[in-house]
Parts: sequence; C-alpha cells; structure tokens
Amino acid sequence: MELFQLSRANDVRDAIASSAASSGALESAQVRFLAGGTTLLDLMKLNVERPGRVIDISRLPLNQVEATADGGVKIGATVRNADLATHPLIRERYAVLSQALLAGASAQLRNMATTGGNLLQRTRCVYFRDTTMPCNKRTPGAGCAAIGGFNRTMAILGVSDACIASNPSDMNVALTALDATIHIEGTKGPRSVPIDAFFLLPGATPQRETVIEAGDLITHVTLPPQPEGSRSLYLKLRDRASYEFALASAAVVVKVVDGRIAHARVALGGVGTKPWHSTEAEAALADATPDAATFARAADAALANAQPQSQNGFKVELARRCLVHALTQATRTD
Ligand code: SF4
Repeated sequence: MELFQLSRANDVRDAIASSAASSGALESAQVRFLAGGTTLLDLMKLNVERPGRVIDISRLPLNQVEATADGGVKIGATVRNADLATHPLIRERYAVLSQALLAGASAQLRNMATTGGNLLQRTRCVYFRDTTMPCNKRTPGAGCAAIGGFNRTMAILGVSDACIASNPSDMNVALTALDATIHIEGTKGPRSVPIDAFFLLPGATPQRETVIEAGDLITHVTLPPQPEGSRSLYLKLRDRASYEFALASAAVVVKVVDGRIAHARVALGGVGTKPWHSTEAEAALADATPDAATFARAADAALANAQPQSQNGFKVELARRCLVHALTQATRTD
C-alpha cells in the first residue's frame, strides 16, 4: 500500500468540494471516497487502487431507509448491507433485495459494506487484482490475461475484445429488477440515473464501469413501488453455499393476473459484465401463461446472445436453469 492523505467530510457538499479541490492537485483517479472500505481497502493493499487522497464519508447523514410519498423507498448511500437486508420496508416490499443482500459476502462484510460501495464494487477477475498480469481495466491498453486464460468465472453477456470480467454484486442484480434510480451529487449539481444507464458495458474502455465522474458522490438510491400483488425472488448459484460470488443468479419480479403474466422484470448476475437486465426475457414473459414452456422460452431469449469463453460455457445452461427455477418459484401457487 502506498502513502495517502486521509480526511473526513462533514457534509455532502464538503465531500464533493474536497474531492474537486484534490482533483486539481492530483490526478482525478487518485481521489477516492471511503465508506465501508470492503472493496477499496482490499484493492489498496494489493496496489490495484493507489489513491493519493482518501475522503472518509462514513459519518455523512446518508444512512437512512425511508418510505417515499409515492409508495417507494429511499435508501441512503451509507446504509450498511446488513441493515438494508433486515429493514422492515425492504423485507415487506422488496424481498428480492433482502434476499440478494443476504446471499452476498459474509455477515462481517455485510455489517461494513454500504449501498453506495456495493454499487461501485469492482470485479473479482483474478488478473485485475494481480498487478503482475496484463489487464485493460487496471491499465488501459495492457491487454487482457483472462481471454485465453483462467476465465471460468467470467462473463458471457456484454463482453468485448478488451474485457470479459463479470460484475460481482448480488445487490445490483436485485436493484436492476426493481428499476432502481441512482442519485448522484457532483460539482455540477445533482442528477438521477436509472440503474440500466448507470453501469457501462466494457467495450474498448473497460476502465469505465459506471457513469460516475471525478468528484461525483452517490447520495441515495430510490426504488419505485412495485405492482400490487407482484412477487419477487433472488436465486444464486455458486461453488459453495456461502461467502462466494455467483456463477449465475437471477432476480425476478412477477405479477400474474387471471392466469397471465401482467408484469415481469428479469435481471441476471454472475454472467454479465454489468448487472444484466434481460428485456428479451421480459418480452417472452409478457402476457404469457406462467408455465414451464414460457419460462424456457424466456430463459432461451435471455441467453441467446451469450458469448462463452474457453472455460465458462457451462454458465449458459446454468444461467438458463437458474432463471427458469426462479420464475417457477416466484409464480407457484401451492
Ligand atoms: Fe482485466 Fe477485464 Fe481482462 Fe480481467 S477480464 S484481465 S478485468 S481486462
């Protein structure tokens, strides 16, 4: 780990102003906000992240979960994953989010990790975390050791010639199925970004993972009310039962009216370079009967554009079965 300056922000504007002031003296990539630290500190110890300045935002008043006037919920950026997972509003109205959070990491990590930090969680690609190996995400233009290397856990959707790393978060998959909006404060003021637009595909610039710019601070996330009578579910498949990242996961929100699917949201995890919103699966589910044939068609549609690598072809069928099972469980009536 390299030497860095540490300061503490008193409020949101102070945090942004401090970051902007630092960016003037340092490369913007060298300023980082610190909340739970469960990603940032790991990567600093590995010299993958080498900020010249770290601004502690853990004491900002962004740690509340509140009902909104429209029947939705507002989640502060520093709400801990454990607190969010067990909050009554989340358990009652957004079960898929609670399930996804509890499927992630370990109890100790969930006690530290925050909502904003989870949104910015970096990939678990082993080459990204090893500074002796070429990685376009860490060092643009260096090459990608995973293509042709160890790629069993890598993405099969949204990949590019530059990067095939999967997004490791469970929470982000659930937020995608729930149509979350990410609220950001920056030097030019506040802005709100739908979660689909928040994450970027790697393309030729895998170092850019989100729309976050230098000086931007995620302040909160909002979730709209879900359709009355809808049910949601998160299913995660992995190599071991706990403290492991998804090989494939599915977050679904489904409402059935008079034997037909009236609302469906589908997101996949572990298989995409970003939390994977499958509009193709949703189109296959729309106004269809909730049965095995429909779910199979939806899963086929979701994986139709998969581009497996040399070691992760199994993820195509694994993700397919994961989605079919999640939809089956979310719509069962017995
Ligand atoms: Fe780096 Fe992405 Fe290649 Fe992994 S897959 S080595 S993160 S460029």
